[in-house]
Amino acid sequence: MNENVTMPAKEVVLEVRNLTKYFPIGNTMRLKHVHALNDASFVIHRGEIVALVGESGSGKSTTARLITRLIEPTRGEILLHGRDMLKHESSGASLAYRKAIQMIFQDPYGSLNPARTIGFHVERPIRIHKKEKHALESVHELLASVGLSPADEYAQKYPYQLSGGQRQRVAIARALAVEPEIILADEPISMLDVSIRMGVLNLIEQLKEERGIGFLYITHDLASARYIGDRTIVMYAGHMVEGAESTELMDQPAHPYTRLLLSAVPNPEAGLTTRVVQARGEIPSLIDPPPGCPFAPRCPKVMDICRQTMPDATKLSEDHWVRCHLFDLDQKEQ
Ligand code: SF4
Repeated sequence: MNENVTMPAKEVVLEVRNLTKYFPIGNTMRLKHVHALNDASFVIHRGEIVALVGESGSGKSTTARLITRLIEPTRGEILLHGRDMLKHESSGASLAYRKAIQMIFQDPYGSLNPARTIGFHVERPIRIHKKEKHALESVHELLASVGLSPADEYAQKYPYQLSGGQRQRVAIARALAVEPEIILADEPISMLDVSIRMGVLNLIEQLKEERGIGFLYITHDLASARYIGDRTIVMYAGHMVEGAESTELMDQPAHPYTRLLLSAVPNPEAGLTTRVVQARGEIPSLIDPPPGCPFAPRCPKVMDICRQTMPDATKLSEDHWVRCHLFDLDQKEQ
């Protein structure tokens, strides 16, 4: 089954199919592989935010790094407007591809050179990608568009003079400088104070609405995925296990892992009476993992078949799919 959610009214900008990454470890005598990502498939439409949710090691950041072509996949396809980029640009991403797909990182300070001004950081991509020599006006417009006003004053500051939220806004302005179609936002608010997270999320939402930019919003935080994501995909141990329109996923989770994640989100109305779904065991090793469902060692509903074969994706509704044998069996019994 193709688990991609179809939204015919919207244009697909980016599609990945069966994207897989195994990292080799050890030596030639005892070569093993870390199965960081297995058969990830999804689309991002123009002006859509797709939230990718999961714990550390679930494969979220590997997905983003593969799409930016910082690393090359073991197999799979990356299509920009239907064009298979791995086939057409096999020796590395072109400048045009890098312009279309921009990335913002978790640590805005780490991605800015402390010895350079904010104006320099925002102007640089304009010079490289647009070949503009005098880009001061564009720099000021970009800084103002991400809420850094007066822009001429911010342009002269250095990264250490800004707060974490302001630095993340600079990173977003720098990405916007090349007019991207897709922005991959890897945990963009996780290092910010709670009080300024909402401002950055609202800025992302505004850019989606006003500029039609598609976002892959990577997070371990289901609450922010629900707030900002049009669709949410849940990842576990390198596999995409469930995907749906965000409110449907949060209101009617199907996969036992999604239920576990949701049960751990604090619910102020339920207070201390909130019941956390119990899960046994640890997250499995990704080094040459055994066949079957990766959640089997922790799953309260595990069956014999779960330890033998990885479930296929089962469609639950137009926009909702899940990869779990509980739903395979339901379908076969009907
Ligand atoms: Fe649990 Fe089996 Fe479903 Fe995996 S496939 S989540 S082990 S019931």
